[in-house]
Amino acid sequence: MREPFRYESNIPRIIFGFGAISNAAEELRQLGCSRALVLSTPHQDNDARSLAKALGSLAVGVFSRAAMHTPVDVTTEALSLFKEIGADCVLSLGGGSTIGLGKAIAYRNDTPQLVIATTYAGSEVTPILGQTENGVKTTVRGSSILPETVIYDPELTIDLPVKMSVTSGLNAMAHAVEGLYAQDRNPIASMMAMEGIAALQRALPAIVESPRDRTARADALYGSWLCGVVLGAVGMALHHKLCHTLGGSFDLPHAETHAILLPHTIAYTEQAVPELLAPVAQLFGASGAGTGLYDFALRIGAPMRLRDLGVTGEDLDKVAALSVRNPYWNPRPLEVGAIRALLQNAWEGVRPG
Ligand code: NAD
Repeated sequence: MREPFRYESNIPRIIFGFGAISNAAEELRQLGCSRALVLSTPHQDNDARSLAKALGSLAVGVFSRAAMHTPVDVTTEALSLFKEIGADCVLSLGGGSTIGLGKAIAYRNDTPQLVIATTYAGSEVTPILGQTENGVKTTVRGSSILPETVIYDPELTIDLPVKMSVTSGLNAMAHAVEGLYAQDRNPIASMMAMEGIAALQRALPAIVESPRDRTARADALYGSWLCGVVLGAVGMALHHKLCHTLGGSFDLPHAETHAILLPHTIAYTEQAVPELLAPVAQLFGASGAGTGLYDFALRIGAPMRLRDLGVTGEDLDKVAALSVRNPYWNPRPLEVGAIRALLQNAWEGVRPG
């Protein structure tokens, strides 16, 4: 019988398509804005400056020092530039790091955000902000954090390096897979989750084969949008918490950590809710979702071993202990011994049993 559910929609306005970046000026006007501060990482500084130039008087400044995990001191710097130049909105061009900076500014001054997303991380459609101060990462949620408008232009992802496309794509899939067994799951989020996973399952092998494949690039960005919506709509569990603990404690690269852990955390949880993960197992043509994801990751050349990120056996003991210190809901209860065993498998890169 159908389970009872609650569903609330809070999806930003989405403009999707090749060449969609040309809508940026019109979308700023739609937001009632005329003085954008364009944000990027140092790596995308040239793109941010070209965009600002194309926007003419609608862009009044560029800040290109966005960094991973949204350090609060960088936000403070960007905020003072925002005030100094009299900006009335932010235009974030990039992946989760740049979008995080835009969200951090909006969290503090409620400014409208237009995002042009160029990775598959999905942050642009969530009301979640993770920020770091004195080495501690904290997460906040709020309506001012959710961007108003998102432009997805697959053209801008054509040169996203294959390695990052693979890890970022698996990061996106992680949102959707965990969404399927969320405590507050609902039919719309689960439908978006499966559509998102399927789009990425088609697209990622094609991108590995031919990085400039336009159909695959469009499919991957479409899938990442849906997976991001799921992340923003329902609660996450063991996989995201473990990645947060591991990544936060040892400053590990975000997408790689998700990519490596995903088959193992899913295999762990699958034991409690095989029926909720059966569609994933079926999609990957495997007997289980965890093993299906493992074989898929291996096939597309994803990083498979935590030890390659410099994590040690002692670190794993620490993370296993930390992961049960502040208990949270997961379909399969958190057992320190079993979590240590899953981390060991991820460390060695062995196929989950
Ligand atoms: P990123 O934004 O750090 O990007 C990595 C690098 O790739 C950067 O140098 C960037 O400039 C470059 N890059 C981005 N797009 C490119 C493109 N199309 N072509 C070439 N280079 C490109 O990486 P990410 O994985 O997108 O984001 C990770 C961050 O996002 C983490 O801090 C994570 O915590 C956060 N995140 C937050 C949420 C949320 O909902 N709050 C969700 C997912 C990720």
